[in-house]
Amino acid sequence: MMDIQKIRSQFPILEEKIHGKPLVYFDNGATTQKPLSVINRIENYYTKENANIHRGVHTLSQEATTAYENARNTIQTYIGAQHNHEIIFTKGTTDGINLVANSFGELLKPGDEIIISAMEHHSNIVPWQMLCERKGCKLRIIPMNAKGELELEVFERLLSERTKLVAVTHISNSLGTVNDVEQIIKKSHAVGAKVLIDGAQSIQHIKVDVQALDCDFYVFSGHKLFGPTGIGVLYGKEALLNNMPPYQGGGDMIKEVTLTKTTYNDLPHKFEAGTPNIAGGIGLGTAFEFLNSLNMDDVVAHEQELLNYATQALTKIEGIQFYGEAANKTSVISFLIEGLHPYDVGTLLDKMGIAVRTGHHCTQPVMDQFKIPGTIRASFAIYNTKEEVDIFIKALERIIPILK
Ligand code: PLP
Repeated sequence: MMDIQKIRSQFPILEEKIHGKPLVYFDNGATTQKPLSVINRIENYYTKENANIHRGVHTLSQEATTAYENARNTIQTYIGAQHNHEIIFTKGTTDGINLVANSFGELLKPGDEIIISAMEHHSNIVPWQMLCERKGCKLRIIPMNAKGELELEVFERLLSERTKLVAVTHISNSLGTVNDVEQIIKKSHAVGAKVLIDGAQSIQHIKVDVQALDCDFYVFSGHKLFGPTGIGVLYGKEALLNNMPPYQGGGDMIKEVTLTKTTYNDLPHKFEAGTPNIAGGIGLGTAFEFLNSLNMDDVVAHEQELLNYATQALTKIEGIQFYGEAANKTSVISFLIEGLHPYDVGTLLDKMGIAVRTGHHCTQPVMDQFKIPGTIRASFAIYNTKEEVDIFIKALERIIPILK
């Protein structure tokens, strides 16, 4: 098994005190903390290596280019992509989805259909609504049952030759549900539809292999997997990306520009207009090296243990109501306590050094289905411990009588 204390020691922020209390960080669904290796890599880049990439003959520019492209290779290997040019650097999950909605979306025609699910993050809803409005396409929704699981029999009935894209989340950020994306991908391909998987909540919790999944697009954010903010990845199959028009125009995405005509660059540059987040890309590569240093089976086992331990302890609290009780879920616990406002609970937990998230978690349709404005969400990562769960439960037991 893993030595969690050794892992914790790589995350300096976990030593911080909040309101004089040791930080208990249970807001990993929103963003994860960063290991020293990532922090040091970014510092070193700006201290000793900073230059613009891809166009310089000077040493610093060439070294920065190599570091940036090496990060792309590290990510390609980790997620099992066939080619390194299938790894497109983006600003994050939202940016990747918008890229596909605008570029792949450009190929769609009125009457074409896109399927999403009822548990999507707003960033996997709104770009498709905008596309449907722009192109006269139709958005169809896979419903979700009371446990927070997708109704796949209904999904099969929604699929038809009109379906051009299915865009679903791998893991729900507000409920923790792990969706059966393998089935969704197979069934979608059977009618000729392409599939985008929103992996914002996945790579930090489970092993992802894009070729084994056979997804057409896979998007994620660096900051949720121990990397920097402002950087993420769109993985896309080579043939698809080659057929898609560029999303944004500018430097780097061109081969030749005249005042009347431009020829576009090859992948991945065709989709990477302008100076990118170089330090972010390099830092993300280091975050993947950190992931490489972990055994993902151990990560899954540790986080499941935390999930079960915390769920059992919370069950004993009077008036608790859980949201998201899927048979297959990761380390997210969404709940409410009868008579208490989630915001008040979150505020008092913060006073005790405990960071949780309260609200709709950018999944308002999920909250609407449960007829609640929001939940309290505790989301764990690899560095969390049972001792922290104990602190959290004790804090809740102190808070409840104060607020009742
Ligand atoms: N999709 C899911 C499932 C998420 O959890 C998030 C962030 O919480 C996003 C998309 C958006 O990610 P970002 O804000 O990093 O673009």
